[in-house]
Amino acid sequence: MHTDRQQLIRSLFDEYIEMYAARDDRVTTRFSENFSGYTGGGDFLVREREAWVDVTRQDFAQVTDRIRIEMLDLALQDLSEDVVLVTAFFHIHLPLPDQILSRETARLVLAFRREGDDWRIVHSGISIPYPLVRAGEVYPLRGLQERNRELEGLIEVRTRALEEARAQLEALSYTDALTGVANRRSFDRTLAQEWSRGQRAGTPLAVIILDVDKFKHFNDHYGHLAGDEALRALASALSGAVRRAGEVVARFGGEEFVLLLPDTNVRDAVTVAERAQQAIRARALPHAGVEPGIVSVSLGVASVVPVRELPPESLLRLADAALYRAKALGRDRLELASD
Ligand code: GH3
Ligand code: MG
Ligand code: MG
Repeated sequence: MHTDRQQLIRSLFDEYIEMYAARDDRVTTRFSENFSGYTGGGDFLVREREAWVDVTRQDFAQVTDRIRIEMLDLALQDLSEDVVLVTAFFHIHLPLPDQILSRETARLVLAFRREGDDWRIVHSGISIPYPLVRAGEVYPLRGLQERNRELEGLIEVRTRALEEARAQLEALSYTDALTGVANRRSFDRTLAQEWSRGQRAGTPLAVIILDVDKFKHFNDHYGHLAGDEALRALASALSGAVRRAGEVVARFGGEEFVLLLPDTNVRDAVTVAERAQQAIRARALPHAGVEPGIVSVSLGVASVVPVRELPPESLLRLADAALYRAKALGRDRLELASD
């Protein structure tokens, strides 16, 4: 396990233990909404946060003073990137004349799960090999093995759900959240693949970089929400302008898009660029104060046969230089890379 994370989980665990020992009600704030735990009182599985909060209150009501917890051993185990299991063995010294638990080794298992920026406890189980406990009393023990099995089953189910969530996140991590087209990360990955493929096949690879003209004006005039809406409309227009399988539309940065066209020479790339420009003009998104009164883009087009000696970024640099020229020459136009 990564040491930073190990330290973090440890400190969260310490905080939990500290609050527990102090019989501090706030101990429950660490619980996830999706919480379960084995109660001290009834030796049964509680499946909801609220039920567990009640149990904790009852438990605290039985012994109101601070208890002393003497830690013997602590193990942290990564179940996944987002789930860490902490198992602690300790002695509990209750503030009671009769030190009934002091020599018994208790075990606490907490499952921490990452939720957003935070780590929350999704499962808690405590067991104490203390045979004299009566129902409803502090920390009973029964069916330790069964608890283990239930806990493992529960963790397994949760881990599987996390796997699925991660797969979805993985897909999302290659999508631009605003427009739904591929994001920069996805583009970079595909560019590298196509660059290698072009080398092997000796076929040209083309990119078109598009940058919205005077978009700062647009935002200033219509507001950023309208700006976002315009970016969505542009992404949709561009998606409609690519035809062949393997062609990619990606959002490159703020108001820049890029088209990646495998096996496409300069002439064909210009055809696609013109089609993209046309598709955007056809949307006729009003852009007050800027000629010709609708949203336009400048485009830089480049196509090369990839070679091993150059990195894929070299193609981007060519297209970007062409785009820069298109801006300098008055915008709303496309320029070809000259290599
Ligand atoms: P130019 O014709 O030279 O490209 O002018 P420009 O104003 O488009 O260029 P500049 O790079 O100065 O400004 C780009 C603007 O795009 C700045 C920023 O407000 C806007 N922008 C970038 N990302 C977003 C976004 O996600 N949403 C919105 N609404 N605006 C964005
Ligand atoms: Mg820009
Ligand atoms: Mg711009």
